Amino acid sequence: MAAGWSLSRSERKAAARAEFLRQEEQRERRRQVSRILRKPAAERSPDEAALLSGCQEIVRDLERLGKKRERLRRRLEEVCDEPEELKRKVSKLSAAVQGAKHLIIYTGAGISTAASIPDYRGPNGVWTMLQKGRSIRAVDLSEAEPTLTHMSIACLHNHKLVKHVVSQNCDGLHLRSGLPREALSELHGNMYIEVCTSCTPNREYVRVFDVTERTALHRHHTGRVCHKCGAQLRDTIVHFGEKGILQQPLNWEAAIEAASKADVILCLGSSLKVLKKYPHLWCMSKPPRHRPKLYIVNLQWTPKDDLAALKLHGKCDDVMKLLMDELGLPIPCYDRTKDPIFSLAVPLQPEEEGSHSRRAVAPPVGLHEVQLGEQQQTPVGPLSGGWFGRGCAKGTKKRKVS
Ligand SMILES: [Zn+2]
Repeated sequence: MAAGWSLSRSERKAAARAEFLRQEEQRERRRQVSRILRKPAAERSPDEAALLSGCQEIVRDLERLGKKRERLRRRLEEVCDEPEELKRKVSKLSAAVQGAKHLIIYTGAGISTAASIPDYRGPNGVWTMLQKGRSIRAVDLSEAEPTLTHMSIACLHNHKLVKHVVSQNCDGLHLRSGLPREALSELHGNMYIEVCTSCTPNREYVRVFDVTERTALHRHHTGRVCHKCGAQLRDTIVHFGEKGILQQPLNWEAAIEAASKADVILCLGSSLKVLKKYPHLWCMSKPPRHRPKLYIVNLQWTPKDDLAALKLHGKCDDVMKLLMDELGLPIPCYDRTKDPIFSLAVPLQPEEEGSHSRRAVAPPVGLHEVQLGEQQQTPVGPLSGGWFGRGCAKGTKKRKVS
């Protein structure tokens, strides 16, 4: 309004002051209404009831906000089905697994929590902690071993019940469980693999230690060089805010092909917040009735719950144990002597011996293992660098490192 121009300076000041007081009064009214609403209706005094009926708009607004807050809170809550209920659901899942022509599995951090690797969005997850400004507890990833869920998946694949696995995890545990590489797409990379992109085709170096201690968003060099051409090696990790560019271990084409053929998708331990952004994985171009049936195992809400044929609220290991029982398949135990990482690994050359400070996965040789274990009793410091939790800090304050 141009009216302001005709007012004197003191009049404009008075108007601004009046506006400020009006807004302050509004805020105070809102606080009052909010206080009254928190009381049970029976305990409200006649004055309070009158105030509420005089402020219908604020009441509606606060109630709407309250519902929204409640909905968000519920989504973060971890819910467990009762044991009987879970068993009933697993029977249905088992029927779906047996009846599927092309079953594929999507996995997230929830399948590795039993291996002491924290998940992302769970109550103590990496993402949740960073959002709250707390530090992530240090974990020695080299001690993590494939869980009952990893071993069950490898077994299901072995029995031709599962065709392909798409994982968001970088912890390399699917590979270490014995799942063949062609049946696996590691969407965000693998912490044990570094590659030379100058060689054609890309030359891959599997290591027995986390190769990512020096890498971060847009900084992928691991500090070692290609034995063949001398170019710098890079990690395979897709950090937050990046797109995967490597053929392997991303294996994107195989993931898309598997998804296009899938009639059943089993999602294990993923919030699906990242995976839902890949429409190809959900066959979104097909009409809804031709899309694969979804079975979701997760303690928390996921954005695909409403589309699921069945949602199982349970820990992945509990569900998989029940499922394998139903299918009559014994779950193979993880056996370090059969861990493919040791046969795949390219040994370091003598001059590379000091090129990393991460603990190596202890080799499966009795005496040697004990000696290594004794040498490596150094306590694990706070996490710094590497794929683990790095990209999650994007958008949160950079943490001071003491
Ligand atoms: Zn090379």
